[in-house]
Amino acid sequence: MYRRTWMEINLDQIAENVRKIGDICHKKVIAVLKADAYGCGDIQVCRACEEAGAQMVAVSSLDEAMILRNEGYTGKLLILGMSDPDDVEDLKKADAATAAYSSAWVDEVLKHDARGLKVHLAVDTGMNRIGFKDLDEMRAALQKMLDAGVIVEGIFTHFYCSDIPDHVITDRQFAAFDEAVKAMHYPFEWIHCDNSDATLFHQDPLSNACRVGITLYGISPYRNDFAHPISLYSAVYMCKHVPAGETIGYGATYTTTGDEIIGTAPIGYADGLIRANQGRKVYVDGQYGTIVGRVCMDQVMIRLDHEVPMGTKVEIFGPHISLEEMAADLHTIPYEVICLISGRVTRRYIWHGQLMQEQNDRLIRSEA
Ligand SMILES: *Cc1c(COP(=O)(O)O)cnc(C)c1O
Repeated sequence: MYRRTWMEINLDQIAENVRKIGDICHKKVIAVLKADAYGCGDIQVCRACEEAGAQMVAVSSLDEAMILRNEGYTGKLLILGMSDPDDVEDLKKADAATAAYSSAWVDEVLKHDARGLKVHLAVDTGMNRIGFKDLDEMRAALQKMLDAGVIVEGIFTHFYCSDIPDHVITDRQFAAFDEAVKAMHYPFEWIHCDNSDATLFHQDPLSNACRVGITLYGISPYRNDFAHPISLYSAVYMCKHVPAGETIGYGATYTTTGDEIIGTAPIGYADGLIRANQGRKVYVDGQYGTIVGRVCMDQVMIRLDHEVPMGTKVEIFGPHISLEEMAADLHTIPYEVICLISGRVTRRYIWHGQLMQEQNDRLIRSEA
């Protein structure tokens, strides 16, 4: 890493969170690692989850499944999104189970040799994204797949309001799921409905696995005792006094009101620090600074209380400013904030108490 702008990912703490989730729900844990593990690095987070006892890993597409296979992951793998029916052969080769989400999809898949393909039936219990809504239709699709030698390994649904403290909708969805599972009269090996949030309040005797994504990173509306393994940093490389009445940055959107100390750090919207961060606070050497002027593509200006030496660390989120707080300031959710941290930002992994790896995907590609 040359440019000092990095995301720190503590895999020990992710493992600790996986163990804690398992202790809370007493079910198998499916670690949801779609979108490069929410921007945190899929193979690295995968290894930590596997070591902590997660029995399956879920991604959103065959492309993401292939990345994990190419990196050497040999454990159980599930694609939660819509695989293309023409990719049956590659799904089998990758040993990736995939969602069976409509009759039309099943019919297309069965035009290929689908013997040995693994699927989990997706049940739509109200989200209206993917999945079967009609139980007779799902039962017929199940039978067709079984006749064709498809391995129907599981059945699942997805809760869409589990972050809301009033659990009426989740309860209703679960009742529909319960009915669907029972109506199939089939001994599914994997029955799963709980995402991170539901895992922390929903208990049932039917499902035997939970699917957790965001709580791997300590984020939960229900509990604050999970470890917070990820943070984002840059560094102040220039620090100067700007007299009153001058403006800062593109568009002259900020005018100094007195003699101000302005630091510049090499992070910008191309790193995922979107322009809406203007006016937000950051933490620099024991003080909170404020982002002033527009966020540039590669740099940002920060108003400070006191001067700092060249190279002083800037925390965008981490121990002093939580990811939740940053997301709330930006009127979004932590998921979006971390998924937007771009491939230009170096990832630093802590594993077994040590700096395991510093990885910059774009540098690696250029060196390959
Ligand atoms: C993303 C996703 C999850 C994980 O959600 P979290 O809220 O991050 O736990 C679980 N199931 C499905 C189907 C998903 O798409």
